Amino acid sequence: MSELLEEEAPIAVIGAGLGGLSVAIGLLQKGFRVRVYEQADVFGEVGAGISISPNASKIFAAWGLGEQLAAISCTPLTGTILNGVTGEALQTQALGDALEQLFGSPYYQLLRPQLHAMLVDEVRRLDADAFRLGHRLVDISGPDDAPVLEFANGASAAASLVIAADGARSVVRARRFVDEPARFTRHIAYRGVLPTENLPARYR
Ligand SMILES: Cc1cc2nc3c(=O)[nH]c(=O)nc-3n(C[C@H](O)[C@H](O)[C@H](O)COP(=O)(O)OP(=O)(O)OC[C@H]3O[C@@H](n4cnc5c(N)ncnc54)[C@H](O)[C@@H]3O)c2cc1C
Repeated sequence: MSELLEEEAPIAVIGAGLGGLSVAIGLLQKGFRVRVYEQADVFGEVGAGISISPNASKIFAAWGLGEQLAAISCTPLTGTILNGVTGEALQTQALGDALEQLFGSPYYQLLRPQLHAMLVDEVRRLDADAFRLGHRLVDISGPDDAPVLEFANGASAAASLVIAADGARSVVRARRFVDEPARFTRHIAYRGVLPTENLPARYR
């Protein structure tokens, strides 16, 4: 760690999704200098709900964010998988106290934009200058031990280490590892959020 701390260039995290923000918090809390490069000009994470399983909620607690997470989350008592056509219950799993007792940390559900905003705030609290918005990575030049990031806006930046958190169509992956398009597996998921009172009573 000390070698990296002495490096001139910061650690670069490409992408400020849940992955990039999480790794930035972990590194900043350990004392590393971090810059998070995000292609979007402003933060405006969209999306529906997200589940935080006990292994993840343990990490939030270790970061000191356990109470903040609890305040914006709910803990469902059970989760039920239904047959999408007939509505038949295929499987029901206990999620509330039972899961917390089993794994030593709560299971939560919350709105994804609220989780994203909480992580953005925490990165800013740790380093007000951590974000570089409007920076879409287009290439990485230089050798592996002295990478230089090239952005669509004409900027470039040196990094001591590059962390790819730029999602499923990662430019980092394409430039430095494999450049293959994603394969459509024909598996599709639909998701949504609605007020509980709009559900039939048996699903509430
Ligand atoms: C329908 C669905 C439901 C899910 N439910 C859950 C759940 O309940 N619980 C759970 O734990 N996980 C869930 N997941 C998985 C989880 O959402 C993902 O694993 C996670 O969001 C991935 O985060 P990420 O930061 O790696 O990528 P992303 O969220 O894709 O973020 C990538 C970021 O990088 C930026 N970016 C991309 N390219 C560049 C570039 N060239 N330069 C700069 N910035 C760039 C993007 O703008 C974006 O901000 C779900 C996924 C889906 C699809």
